[in-house]
Amino acid sequence: MLVVMHQKATQEQIDKVVQAIEAKGMAARPIPGGERVAIGILNNRGPVDPSWVLGLPGVKEAIPVTRPYKLVSREFHPEDTIVRVGSAAVGNGKLTLIAGPCAVESEEQALTIARRVKRAGAHLFRGGAFKPRTSPYSFQGLGEEGLKILAKVREETGLPVVTEALDHELFDLVEAYADVVQIGARNMQNFTLLRRAGHSTRPILLKRGLAATIEEWLMAAEYILDSGNPHVILCERGIRTFAHHSRNTLDLSAVPVVQKESHLPIIIDPSHAAGRRDQVIPLSRAAMAVGANGLMVEVHHQPEAALSDGAQSLLPEQFEQLCREVEPIFGLFAAAKEA
Ligand code: PEP
Ligand code: MN
Repeated sequence: MLVVMHQKATQEQIDKVVQAIEAKGMAARPIPGGERVAIGILNNRGPVDPSWVLGLPGVKEAIPVTRPYKLVSREFHPEDTIVRVGSAAVGNGKLTLIAGPCAVESEEQALTIARRVKRAGAHLFRGGAFKPRTSPYSFQGLGEEGLKILAKVREETGLPVVTEALDHELFDLVEAYADVVQIGARNMQNFTLLRRAGHSTRPILLKRGLAATIEEWLMAAEYILDSGNPHVILCERGIRTFAHHSRNTLDLSAVPVVQKESHLPIIIDPSHAAGRRDQVIPLSRAAMAVGANGLMVEVHHQPEAALSDGAQSLLPEQFEQLCREVEPIFGLFAAAKEA
């Protein structure tokens, strides 16, 4: 339930409502708004009696929250969340482009790609130092050395870096280097990792699981917000279907659904969805038309020699083409939204 306070409610009244909720064994989460404060009631076992809440001084309205996720829902937080990373801001009405290799392979590789994607218009650089690989025999990433390379990329190009934390034990290390910590598709329901991400001051990029419903995905985000970190970017990266023409199936319908259900920004990763370079630009254009806040794309200057995901990596000149093609579509959509 969302308890909406009167515009003129005093701090004392707000505190009393919080205490009254807590006295009943429930959690109360004040949500400051532009004009008035609302208080979210969390972890109630059953429905809360609205007449009890309405009887508390300073309370204007009691709105039942119907969704299982609370803090990520629009019911709790109607305005869009903007996630700020350095000079970039995801969800602020402008397009956010994240680009880079699947994995950091060497300083020269990362810097070469970073310079190219920056020139093309990328706002953030991506690259895995710890890689979740299907096979234990595949390249697992450079580990801390990869993180140090990412720090050099940031230093030289000014681009904030996005990189993955594979588990909660590695989180401290990754967090020390990353501007945004990624939680990968396979880890979407790693609840220990989600809780650890919730204690971080870094924004979290939360990928949708291979077989996760939107509700499960939003519940995963709820763990992060419930643990104290409101800076979450959702990333749709394709789900597993019967299709063979692509690695996964990009679920673009997730974008309007997530935007209706949640205030969190949502970006599209067409690279892991497609698994093939030739589908990445068309899917990116489509992601713009459906209203995504941004894209995360794999780029490699020598994809044939890449240690992971070469087949889906764009050449730098193809990323330049992507940037040219998506910007006007994003602009059209943004204009339509404002009209
Ligand atoms: C990645 O972005 O490098 C990655 C491994 O993606 P996903 O978790 O979506 O497979
Ligand atoms: Mn990859």
